[in-house]
Amino acid sequence: MAARLHGLGTTIFAEMSALAVRTGAINLGQGFPDTDGPSSMLEAAVGAIRSGQHNQYPPGIGIPALRTAVTDHQKRFYDLSYDPDTEVLITAGATEAIAAALLALVEPGDEVVAMEPYYDSYAACIAMAGGQRVPVTLRPPEFRLDLDALRAAVGPRTKVLLVNTPHNPTGTVLTPNELSAVAALACERDLLVITDEVYEHLAYDGAPHVPLASYPGMRERTVTISSAGKTFAVTGWKIGWVCATPELVDAVKTAKQFLTYVSGGPFQPAVATALALDDSYYVELRDSLQAKRNLLCAGLADVGFEVFVPQGTYFLTTDVRSLGYDDGVEFCRMLPERCGVVAIPHEVFYDDKTAGRPLVRWAFCKRDEVLVEAVDRLGRGLRR
Ligand code: PMP
Ligand code: GLN
Repeated sequence: MAARLHGLGTTIFAEMSALAVRTGAINLGQGFPDTDGPSSMLEAAVGAIRSGQHNQYPPGIGIPALRTAVTDHQKRFYDLSYDPDTEVLITAGATEAIAAALLALVEPGDEVVAMEPYYDSYAACIAMAGGQRVPVTLRPPEFRLDLDALRAAVGPRTKVLLVNTPHNPTGTVLTPNELSAVAALACERDLLVITDEVYEHLAYDGAPHVPLASYPGMRERTVTISSAGKTFAVTGWKIGWVCATPELVDAVKTAKQFLTYVSGGPFQPAVATALALDDSYYVELRDSLQAKRNLLCAGLADVGFEVFVPQGTYFLTTDVRSLGYDDGVEFCRMLPERCGVVAIPHEVFYDDKTAGRPLVRWAFCKRDEVLVEAVDRLGRGLRR
């Protein structure tokens, strides 16, 4: 195996989901919903397969209907205008978009500044691009972006800022103040920005998600990434997209075409129909997940965890020291046998291992009765 892949191992999501299957535990680890997305979208996919019109390679940049649905979505929710023919690229999930964007924009030796804990594919893809990651650590209890630390992390070799809001795993949603500061820094230091906004519709408590591309000077330097997985509860479909200038889309496309070329033929028209759903769909999705957040936060606090209430995503973080443990990895390896529940240790998302050690992430994108049962099991197994 090539040196640049050393240490990347097996993703924690695969490890913990396999453990859940092996032990029959409730999986609050890997983030995927346990209910289906909108039935009109599911029917559209079935129809697309049956029609025989979408079972061969779609166009490399994605079918026109989906590219237009993406630009209509950016306009409707954020008043951002993109040209569906030159400024959108459909990808195999956000994962491929992240990989292709980093491969396209990072030269060997370039530095990529990113918020840690990182979503795990960031570190791997920066490494595959030959780049160096430079972390800016989010710390409990607030997990805010430290703007001085961010400024200090940018050096002469920094090429890209890699941003994620709403942020996995902490649930931090960057505030307008933080976003303006990121934008100002990117402009001042002439940096490219890759922003992963896959949880764009999961921001709670009335604080809206604001795309970084909407800040002054950002439209032309920002590669915005999102996907259908979270918004429409189809994490297995792997339909993602990139919005950026024609030059940046062209660069990302150059890498993307040799990774998968294309993917998801019949899912593309189905996601196009889903993106056009009424605002009420998006509101109900958010409200339902906010209620699940409240349910799991209250339940875990009752069990005795220190709970950090997330402002977005479908994950929440706890500190396990309040229950007498100090190592989240050990805790998560012990948990399925002891309680029949799976969670994800934060430590694997950090370079600063001490910062992540006592933290554990829980997914709440599950049916209420599953969350209640998980809390019940944890209470029985852990309460002292
Ligand atoms: N970015 C973040 C922050 C994520 O949590 C995920 C997980 N699903 C992805 C990207 C990958 O998205 P996709 O499944 O669309 O590839
Ligand atoms: N995004 C999901 C999570 O953070 C899982 C994605 C994956 O398994 N790669 O849990």
